Amino acid sequence: MPTFKNTENHELAPRMYREEEQHSKISIQQSQPIPIVAPSGKQPMPCMCPYCHHSIVSRVEKSNGLVVWLASAGICLLGCAVGCCLIPFFIDDLKDTTHYCPNCNRVIGRDKKL
Ligand SMILES: [Zn+2]
Repeated sequence: MPTFKNTENHELAPRMYREEEQHSKISIQQSQPIPIVAPSGKQPMPCMCPYCHHSIVSRVEKSNGLVVWLASAGICLLGCAVGCCLIPFFIDDLKDTTHYCPNCNRVIGRDKKL
């Protein structure tokens, strides 16, 4: 009796796996060529949100990362402490970029400088 049950389970498991595989293939074929990878870079980019599974264009927000603080500290060390050290805080290229989903407002990608 126990051997019969085992063979039944072995037959069921691969069949269920195959059905899941077919479903995933169909959903990929129907969707447009939008990258599923996490967005990166400084600009908003079209992608598929991994949380709400909508095709969206990411919303980006800049934040002062390690590079900004290091640049500021470096300028201070060079002797330009009278306001010059604030310059890195106004340069977007030095800042970290965080990509948000505009639909569910979750973080879907980060572009850190360091
Ligand atoms: Zn989302």
